[in-house]
Amino acid sequence: MHRDRDGDEAIPPPPTASARDAEASASLTPDAVLDAIDGLVDGYFEMDTEYRYRRVNPAGLLITGKTRDEMLGKHVLEVFPDVADAAIHQTTMRVMETREAASVETFYAPFNRWFVNSIYPITGGIALFTRDINEQKVLEHNLAFLAEASKVLSSSLDTQQTLRTVAQLAVPRIADWCAIDVLTAPRTVELLAVAHVDPAKVEWAKELRQQDPVDLDRPVGLAKVLLTGEPEFYPEITDEMLVATAKDERSLALARSLGFTSAMIVPLTVQDATIGAITFVATESGHHYTATDLSMAQELASRAALAIENSQLYAASQRAVTLRDDFIAAASHELRTPVTSLKVYTEVMLRKATRGSDEAAVRSLQAMNNQIDRLSSLIVDLLDVAKIESGTLELRQEAFDLRQLVDEIVEVTQATLTKHRIDVEGDATLAVVGDRERLGQVLTNLLSNAAKYSPKAELILVRMWGDQDDVFLEVEDFGIGIQREHLPHLFDRFYRVSTPDEKTFPGLGMGLFIVQEIVRRHGGDLHVESTAGRGSCFRVRLPAHGHPGRDSAETQPA
Ligand code: ADP
Repeated sequence: MHRDRDGDEAIPPPPTASARDAEASASLTPDAVLDAIDGLVDGYFEMDTEYRYRRVNPAGLLITGKTRDEMLGKHVLEVFPDVADAAIHQTTMRVMETREAASVETFYAPFNRWFVNSIYPITGGIALFTRDINEQKVLEHNLAFLAEASKVLSSSLDTQQTLRTVAQLAVPRIADWCAIDVLTAPRTVELLAVAHVDPAKVEWAKELRQQDPVDLDRPVGLAKVLLTGEPEFYPEITDEMLVATAKDERSLALARSLGFTSAMIVPLTVQDATIGAITFVATESGHHYTATDLSMAQELASRAALAIENSQLYAASQRAVTLRDDFIAAASHELRTPVTSLKVYTEVMLRKATRGSDEAAVRSLQAMNNQIDRLSSLIVDLLDVAKIESGTLELRQEAFDLRQLVDEIVEVTQATLTKHRIDVEGDATLAVVGDRERLGQVLTNLLSNAAKYSPKAELILVRMWGDQDDVFLEVEDFGIGIQREHLPHLFDRFYRVSTPDEKTFPGLGMGLFIVQEIVRRHGGDLHVESTAGRGSCFRVRLPAHGHPGRDSAETQPA
C-alpha cells in the first residue's frame, strides 16, 4: 500500500532480513520470472542443446520480425539460414560447449541495425538476451565523423577546399550522396561540392545540376531550406513524395531511378543568414536517417558555418591589412616629395637668417629643421615597413669593414647628441659581407633608441667582435630598460612599450621591426637583454661571410 509521507499512517519500519528473504522467495516463482522475461525490452531467446528455440519473448519477436510459430521448436539455422558463419551463431555454439557466458555485438544487415547479444548457459541449453544498441552505435559513429570533419574544418582557411573534404568524408560513412550548396549571387545556387559512393556518378551529378538548376521560386527540398533556413528531414522517401516534389515527368523518372531511401538537408547559417546547405542522401545503402542523424547533420552544418565565418572574417581582416599597407606605402611615398622641398627651403632660410644674424629666426628655423628631419625619418621608416611587408626590400651583398662603418655612424650620431657619449670597443677591423647602408641603418636605429630611452644616463657602449663564422655588434645603454613581459613582442611591427609620459619617448614602434627584418634577411638575428630601470643591451649577430641561403636575385640591388 502506498501512503504519502504526510499521510495519517505511520511509516512502517523497514522489513527485517528474514522478512525480506521470505518476500524475495515468494516473488521468485517460475511464473513471476517468466512474466519478467516477457516484460523485458530486450529480446530473450532460449535454445535447447539441439539449437531449437524453446522460448522467445515479445520483444524478441519484434526484433526478429518473426511470429512465435515461425520460431518455437525450430532449429536456429532453419529460422535464420544466413547466420551460420556469423559471430552470433559461432558465439552461441561456444557457450553451448564451454558453458561459459559470452557477449557479442552484431550488425544484422536485413534489419540494418546493431545489437549486443549476451549469451548464458542455462539448464538444458542457452539463453540469449538481445539489446538493440543501434542508436548508441549511430551516435558513436556520428560523433567520430563529427570529430574528424571538425578537424578538417579547422585545418585550413580555404573553406571551399575543406567543405569538399567534408563531403568526401561523409561518403559512405553518413550518406551515399553528399552535396554542399552555397548561395552566391542573389538567388543563384552553386554546387560547391558533391561526393558519391560511386565516384563515376560525381560528374554525372554535376551535369545534372547544370541541366536542372535549383529553382528558388519552387520552395521544395533544397530551395526550401535555403529560403527558410530550416532543415528538411525525410526519414523515409516514398514514391508519393517523389511524385509530389518532381518538377516534371523527366525529373520524376530520374528521381525514381536513383532509388532514394532517405535524406536530410541542413542549412549553413552564418550570422542569421542562410548561405548554403548540406544535403545527405541514402540510396544504395538503404539507410533510413533518424533524429540522431539529423542532430549530427545540424551540428556538422553549424561547425562548417563557423569555419566559413572564420575564413570570411580572416579574408576581411587580410583585406584591411592589405588596404592599410597599400595606404602606408602610397602615403609615405607621396609625403616624401613635399618634405624634401620643405627641408631645402628651410635650409636656405636658415642660411639667410644665420647671415643676417637674426638669432630668434635661426632658433625657430633650427627647430623647424629638426622636426623636418624627424618627419623624414618617420617617412623613411614607413616606406621601409611597406617594402618589408610587400617583400620588396632589396639588399646588397658586399664585403666591407664593419669597424669603419661603426666609426662613421658613431661620429654622425654623436654630433646630434648633447648629453650622451658613445664609446666604441672591439676589433680594429672586422670584415663582413652584407648591405653596408642597411646595416648602417641598423646601428643608427639602435643608437638613437639607446639615447632616447636613457635620458638620465651619459654613456652608450658599442662593442663588436667576431669569430670564424659570425660577427657580433652590441649597443648597450644604461637607461630605463624594458620590463620582461614586453621583451617577446619588442620586435613586432608597431609594438611600443607604453610609458607614462608619451611625450618623452615619442615613436611609432617601427624601428626595431625594421632592424630585425634587415638582420634576419642577412641570415643573422637580433637579441635583447634588459633590466627595467637599469638599461638594455641589443646584440646583432651576422654571418661573417654573408647569407648562405640567399639566392642571386636577392643579392642584387634594385
Ligand atoms: P619606437 O622607439 O619608435 O617606439 P622601436 O621599434 O624602435 O619603436 O622600439 C619599440 C619599443 O621598444 C619602444 O617603444 C621602446 O619602448 C622599446 N625600446 C626600444 N629600444 C629601447 C631601449 N634602448 N631601452 C628601452 N626601451 C627600448
